[in-house]
Amino acid sequence: MSHGLNSDELALQQRAREFAQRVARPRAAEVDATEQYPWDVANALAEAGFMGMTIPKAYGGQGRSFLDTVLVIEEMAKCCTVTARIVVEANMGAISTVMAYGSEEQKKLAASLVLSGDKPAICITEPDAGSDTTALTTRADKRGDRYIVNGRKHWITGGGVSKLHLIFARVFDEKGEELGIGGFLAVRGEAQGLKIVRREKTMGLRGIPEGELAFEDMEAPADMVVMPPSGFKRGFADLMNAYNSQRVGAGTVAMGIAAGALDLAVGWVKQREQFGRPVGEFQGLQWMLADMQIQLSAARLMLHAAARSRGQGGQSAFPDPMLAAQAKIFASEAAIRIVNDSLQMFGARGYSRDLPLERMARDVRMFTIGGGTAQVLRTLVASRMLGWKLPQTREGYMREAARPMAAE
Ligand SMILES: Cc1cc2nc3c(=O)[nH]c(=O)nc-3n(C[C@H](O)[C@H](O)[C@H](O)COP(=O)(O)OP(=O)(O)OC[C@H]3O[C@@H](n4cnc5c(N)ncnc54)[C@H](O)[C@@H]3O)c2cc1C
Repeated sequence: MSHGLNSDELALQQRAREFAQRVARPRAAEVDATEQYPWDVANALAEAGFMGMTIPKAYGGQGRSFLDTVLVIEEMAKCCTVTARIVVEANMGAISTVMAYGSEEQKKLAASLVLSGDKPAICITEPDAGSDTTALTTRADKRGDRYIVNGRKHWITGGGVSKLHLIFARVFDEKGEELGIGGFLAVRGEAQGLKIVRREKTMGLRGIPEGELAFEDMEAPADMVVMPPSGFKRGFADLMNAYNSQRVGAGTVAMGIAAGALDLAVGWVKQREQFGRPVGEFQGLQWMLADMQIQLSAARLMLHAAARSRGQGGQSAFPDPMLAAQAKIFASEAAIRIVNDSLQMFGARGYSRDLPLERMARDVRMFTIGGGTAQVLRTLVASRMLGWKLPQTREGYMREAARPMAAE
């Protein structure tokens, strides 16, 4: 479990474990039942230094690695999924995008919000632009020194509780000419026209709202544009590249839920007796346990490898896309199986809301969907393996098919 970790990483892991058991676990069931965002836990996370860990020291953070973050996320997810997701978003995703591409002012703004307990929101998905992110229609029109943003996003994690928003929109210049897709920072409460329309009724992960957002003539000053080095034209790919850190984080939440469920199952099968002996003595359950442990260990190794890949091969500020995709696919699918089998080992009790297994089963189900579905990520993996572009639109596919195949 602690293979290849240095003393600093082990100490951080231990500190996160202690925090998760003392602060997050006692709140998990209530947060789920009341569907209330745990402000107390978020504040405690900030005080304990688990928010903004990856922010460079120059901006008040600790300059910690994604591997450090992954270690903390797993410990939180074993006890409370909502807490783990707050840690993901306060260290990866939008905040790492700003830290990679933002201006000095943007970095200072984002750091001050996150370090004081804000979980930023990343706003990409729209009702008609899900897996096909490039179909997004939210638009930002340049008007003098500002942009006017109009459109709608849905399934935005933290909608209604997050202050800092990173909003993806199609950018148009003053003449109405399209420039590409850009990222805009907005702070809820300050940006007029940023509206929270409604909250989704989710299956699990109920302590963080999934919001539908509307931008109605929202004004974004030009200095709130997050501009990757490649500019608007090719900047969308750079901005989406930042999502690879979020993917590693999401996969780790799933893996952590599975680790927590498996711990419970191991304890239970040693204690529960049927036919005059602990059910853990039955080989039928022993082999299930072994398979669960093997999958968990493999998922953890893949996630750690993906987290460590930041900066390798070209100094990217984000994890390698191929490693991140593989790890998220494997971890999210394995976690669903592990949690399901853990629940099975509790028999009827596993199906009861008195135990956390049913909550874990609802929570873990999301991770093959959000942040790139398991199907779409497989296309990314295959594309890298084949060395081919694999456009998914009909026109894109026809164009690629018509291109003469490069000589091997
Ligand atoms: C809990 C939760 C939190 C989320 N948080 C955020 C957030 O904070 N910010 C944000 O921007 N978005 C967020 N999302 C949205 C998420 O990223 C999208 O749901 C996801 O990208 C899939 O889009 P979709 O739901 O529209 O599914 P669709 O794209 O409509 O897909 C439907 C089905 O078709 C499959 N499919 C689609 N295209 C292909 C293809 N080319 N090949 C094979 N199969 C395909 C999909 O895998 C899926 O099974 C969240 C979602 C959830 C559930």
